[in-house]
Amino acid sequence: MHRTAAIISQGDEIVIGQTLDTNSKWIAARLLDRGIVPLEHVSLPDDRAAIASALMRLAARVDLILCSGGLGPTADDLTRFALCDASDDTLREDADALAQIAAWFASRGRAMNELNKVQAQRPSRAAFLPNEFGTAPGIRTRIGLCDVFCLPGPPRELAPMFDRLVTPLLQPDPSRTVRVRVLHTIGLGESEIASRFRDAPGGNLMARDRSPLIGTTASNSVVSCRIRYEGPLSAGEADQLIARDEAAIRALISEAIFGEDEETLASVIVRTLRERAQTITTIESCTGGMVASQLTDIAGASDVLRTGWVTYANEVKTREVGVPDSLFKDSAESKAPGAVSAEVATAMAQGGLQSANADYAIAITGIAGPSGGTLDKPVGTVFVALASRSHAPDVRRFAFTGDRSAIREWSARAALATLWLNLSNRRGVRLLRQV
Ligand code: AMP
Ligand code: MG
Repeated sequence: MHRTAAIISQGDEIVIGQTLDTNSKWIAARLLDRGIVPLEHVSLPDDRAAIASALMRLAARVDLILCSGGLGPTADDLTRFALCDASDDTLREDADALAQIAAWFASRGRAMNELNKVQAQRPSRAAFLPNEFGTAPGIRTRIGLCDVFCLPGPPRELAPMFDRLVTPLLQPDPSRTVRVRVLHTIGLGESEIASRFRDAPGGNLMARDRSPLIGTTASNSVVSCRIRYEGPLSAGEADQLIARDEAAIRALISEAIFGEDEETLASVIVRTLRERAQTITTIESCTGGMVASQLTDIAGASDVLRTGWVTYANEVKTREVGVPDSLFKDSAESKAPGAVSAEVATAMAQGGLQSANADYAIAITGIAGPSGGTLDKPVGTVFVALASRSHAPDVRRFAFTGDRSAIREWSARAALATLWLNLSNRRGVRLLRQV
């Protein structure tokens, strides 16, 4: 039975911070979905002794180990050797694995490199897990009572192998249930949400000893509330408890909730616009297309995104979306608002709306830094304007902090949030960092 798990991610590139370990996050979520609780994540360099000792230590602690990386053909791919060390086994060539690797090369019209032969080697008591997407087969074995699955590092190979080959072999405890529900919010700070939860009519929703457990996570201006049940109840009973807590949460922060579970601001926006058969266009300055990019990450975006402009130079703002030249040039009587201003953001949005013949247009102009700030418009000053066919423009000024990339991410998020507030008739809601 697999009640508990550990996840090992391997590779010098992970430990030195060159590659972000996304595999562990992904695997942990998959395990939790099945009711298996990850107790530990370990990141290790390409070091045979370190891998072997982690395998032995964790095998004594958990029922299941998932290991990613280190199955390649080169001298720094050491998983198979460490597995032998940890399980007192020896390597043997697996004929099926060799045939699969040869077929992989043949199907691409390439000759198999001698080096790749080592990838057909596995501990004698292990089984190999075929890899359709690369040359590195996975390995499945046991260390003591612990089941161990080793998968290749590239996420595009690991994910389908996990879903097809590992998931059917998972044995979650049928008497234990893990259920998670997440509600995503925008417009309320994490501490505001926490204090409403604390003062909930039925008692503190965030008490650490209650079940289901309720927690919050903030990422830019999105605060996600997680309701998590883990215990002996059936899935149906757990879902009832979660539904009860969800109703309590919705009663406290309904104005801020925009989505659930896997949904994102962009996905909710694209879905809503599609349902209403409406369209959007983007006119971006300091985000250089990030908003258009996030919208087009969502399947179906082509039904709703008419076009997008990246307008940096003033004359391009004028030529492409008709921002009046006078907004940039001081006159004898008065100082012009300048490229980073509510006026220019509004003109960008209105011009884009007309040119693209869209229902909504979202425009962003700001100072991402590190240079370009002034006393009255310091780095992090960003204007977002939303124009629509139905309402007067919604223009917001933000004062973001952080480095260039943080400011740009905040800005793109603020633009999507502004759009969402308009789509959901909550124009009055102020956003975080709005001034
Ligand atoms: P491998 O040859 O199996 O060690 O895997 C190498 C490739 O997979 C590299 O391109 C890594 O960037 C990627 N990779 C390895 N481990 C991870 C991980 N934990 N998360 C995301 N990518 C990874
Ligand atoms: Mg590696």
